[in-house]
Amino acid sequence: IELPVHEAVLGRAAEYGDSPALVDGTNGTTLSYAQLDAFHRRIAAALAASGLRKGDVLALHSPNTIAYPAVFFAATRAGASVTTVHPLSTPEEFAKQLRDSSARWIVTVSPLLGTARRAAALAGGIEEVLVCDSAPGHRSVLDLLASTDPEPQVDIDPRTDVAALPYSSGTTGVPKGVMLTHHSIATNMAQLHPFIPVKPGDRVLAVLPFFHIYGLTALMNIPLSHGATVVTLPRFDLEQFLKAIQDERINALFVAPPIVLALAKHPAVERYDLSSVEYVVSAAAPLDAALAKACADRLGIRPVLQAYGMTELSPGTHVVPLSAENPPPGTVGKLLPRTEMRILSLHDPGKDLGVGEEGEIAIRGPQRMKGYLGRPDATDAMIDADGWLHTGDVGRVDDDGWLYVVDRVKELIKYKGYQVAPAELEALLLTHDGIADAAVIGVYDADGNEVPKAYVVRQPHAADLTEADVMTYVAERVAPYKKVRRVEFTDGVPRAASGKILRRELRERERA
Ligand code: ATP
Ligand code: MG
Repeated sequence: IELPVHEAVLGRAAEYGDSPALVDGTNGTTLSYAQLDAFHRRIAAALAASGLRKGDVLALHSPNTIAYPAVFFAATRAGASVTTVHPLSTPEEFAKQLRDSSARWIVTVSPLLGTARRAAALAGGIEEVLVCDSAPGHRSVLDLLASTDPEPQVDIDPRTDVAALPYSSGTTGVPKGVMLTHHSIATNMAQLHPFIPVKPGDRVLAVLPFFHIYGLTALMNIPLSHGATVVTLPRFDLEQFLKAIQDERINALFVAPPIVLALAKHPAVERYDLSSVEYVVSAAAPLDAALAKACADRLGIRPVLQAYGMTELSPGTHVVPLSAENPPPGTVGKLLPRTEMRILSLHDPGKDLGVGEEGEIAIRGPQRMKGYLGRPDATDAMIDADGWLHTGDVGRVDDDGWLYVVDRVKELIKYKGYQVAPAELEALLLTHDGIADAAVIGVYDADGNEVPKAYVVRQPHAADLTEADVMTYVAERVAPYKKVRRVEFTDGVPRAASGKILRRELRERERA
């Protein structure tokens, strides 16, 4: 797609006119498509008049609000790249991202202003800190709406200019700044949309954060480019989430596995009318087939549709089409058009594997990142000379081309020469009636063997569940080499904002 991302998303906004583009799920405040279009242009003009130039980086530090897309597209229209910041970042983490991305502008919200100012002071080089709402002594985005400045005329080359600089989730290490061009983002929207055809009149719930690429593409860019209504929630709170689905008559849900888990198992679900929901899409982390089925059955809808991708791929490469009659359980979908995939041997580098064989997923396509910002070595380690991006994920394809993601290469537990995928054991544990949540890592036993250890959160009604019960439950259902050999009960499983289990933190806890 040879368009700047704001054109790709808002090019038809005028056509959708008075229909609602965004609704604040906490108070009902609504922004029409005509307003979104006019507002983002005026904010762009005001930012340009204040000195925002092509190539500048603007840090957007906000939970999901109805103002978020207007600020995002204003910045790209003025030629800037937007680095999206986790609203719960500490000042130190935020400052690190500001320095790493050479950001010169910050747009935040008043409750987070203290953090933003401390981060700005730590990082240095910040031109201005603006707020979306209002705070004494700071310009507000609302003031910019009165701008009569001329619209900036910037030449954007969609193929090379960076529109967004999201940071990867940091599941496996330090989050890395990912350079996504206008072209890669707009192309991925166009690649995904035919398979999940969000349309005018649809009501999607933006509960996953816009700052993460999944939320940015699935909850902001795609629905806003097709005339749907996006209902925003600032964070995930189960009751608020269920109430919003009911009150706002949400029909399309884009979520991550922990929310599927809640929809399948949590008693609160019974208290709400969720009959408006037509389909659920899950991505960002492994989802167990039995859990997906329990969720779909409880809501009385078609099977949960999975999608697969990563920040470095804008993010999508696979999706289960809404039109698929009977997608096989557990699949993350079929390869998107104009995208190529290889499954590479884990033992014999460069060797392609066939149907049914498990290996590393490698991808080539127009949605690929330009590279990691300021990390040429990390970029070269991931993208080879022929343009293949090595995902670090293990997968296999069946006869019909459906992909199954097993786990990350680095997370596989090597038990006496066998490979055990923690995700498979986690999924199995969640099928136990007494288990509310679970995570699995490899630990070392007295003989130096790596063995699977499960961290288990009991359901409130299952206080008497024992370690032996858990081990027996798994042992009865898997090959002997996959048995869970250690169990620890815990109050919660550490997770990233995108829903991924932070096994790294559990390993650190184990070492300590
Ligand atoms: P970092 O790269 O910083 O360690 P991260 O890889 O978790 O963090 P993201 O880009 O948010 O950062 O996540 C992409 C990863 O999420 C994929 O590489 C894959 O491991 C996982 N993932 C995404 N979708 C699915 C899915 N449907 N099933 C299983 N895993 C998935
Ligand atoms: Mg990653």
